Amino acid sequence: MMTPVENNLSYILNHLHEDRQSYAGATSPPIMQTAKHAFESVAEMRNAMINESDSFVYGRGHNPTTAILEKKLAALDGAEAALVVNSGSTAISAAVMAHIHQGEHIISINKPYYWATALFDNVIKELNVETTYVDGTDITNIASAIRPNTKIIYLESPNSWTYELQDLDAVGQLARRHGILTIIDNTYCTPLYQRPLDFGIDISLQSASKYIGGHGDVIAGVICAKKELIEPIIGGPFMTFGLQTSPFHSWLLLRGLRTLPVRLERISITTKKIVEYLKAHPAVEEIIFPFDPDFPQYALAKKQMKDAFGLITIVLKNKSRQSIESFCNHLEYFTMAVSWGGYESQVMPGCVTVPDGSFDGNNRGHRLIRLAIGLEDAGVLIDDLGKALEISR
Ligand SMILES: *Cc1c(COP(=O)(O)O)cnc(C)c1O
Repeated sequence: MMTPVENNLSYILNHLHEDRQSYAGATSPPIMQTAKHAFESVAEMRNAMINESDSFVYGRGHNPTTAILEKKLAALDGAEAALVVNSGSTAISAAVMAHIHQGEHIISINKPYYWATALFDNVIKELNVETTYVDGTDITNIASAIRPNTKIIYLESPNSWTYELQDLDAVGQLARRHGILTIIDNTYCTPLYQRPLDFGIDISLQSASKYIGGHGDVIAGVICAKKELIEPIIGGPFMTFGLQTSPFHSWLLLRGLRTLPVRLERISITTKKIVEYLKAHPAVEEIIFPFDPDFPQYALAKKQMKDAFGLITIVLKNKSRQSIESFCNHLEYFTMAVSWGGYESQVMPGCVTVPDGSFDGNNRGHRLIRLAIGLEDAGVLIDDLGKALEISR
């Protein structure tokens, strides 16, 4: 008999909440492709319906395949409960919408994930909720933005382009003193490398389309928190808007989870080799990576993240748009695409959203190039980068 140790990664990923005897010993859980669940008696049905956030009644609510995934994701985050939704963006909007009311105030760190900004600046604004954006690298900026009606402090640490961090322990303490809810987008680290709830953050969410899925073939999101904070999300936006993921997507995410630690380990080793190579390359002016000793918040990164990996942002010495585009166009092993966290390495230049004629070589933001490291051989990637850098000089 397996000893259930809920903080043991191998136990969580391979055994927690799997009931193989009930499905003929199948090692992979079934995809419970059902829209409803039948009951034996009125009493049983009544109990389930009264307690719908904990029972299987209807497919817009909970599903048994998704429930296996949720139990594992909650355990990884050290959370009481997890809710899987149909995208990372949904995780952000559902968590915020469930906990904000008309006339309240949100403090958000500068430049969160684009669709969080769209939520704050468009959707939420319509409800007469104001959002103040602050530079979250300094806790005093957050503290001085607090108003009597501040309800939520919204964090993303690190962010996915320039990796600014917030001191999670300090923000958690500040928010508790003022009775403010804290929400963090933890997509960069995943709970394997940063567990925000351990630092006193209330709600930790992530896009599962990145590392949890891990194969670039599913869109989903995860919200982890105490049960009392998840319940209003279920009874609010989740059920009314129909934000559930499909059983098949949950199954794909379960499959992704099995290999999450080895994938991240491999990505981490490769990332470090590439960082070292790029740092020494004469065509590269700057490299932005949280575990690089020159990173402005290196000490904080080391303190609250178990590792940095996957995403590297570089600035080329040559300031022309042509040089950036030539570098990206000549990479053979880096797919040019949005998103990240899959098996394949990717490249995306910041200037892709800068209209023709508006590019400014003196604007660092226009010159950023983000690399997402996948599972390829490090030597192959370094060789590829070397050739593209030479051509773009
Ligand atoms: C991708 C991403 C999201 C949104 O996730 P989707 O699954 O694409 O909706 C949110 N936050 C971060 C940091 C992301 O990288």
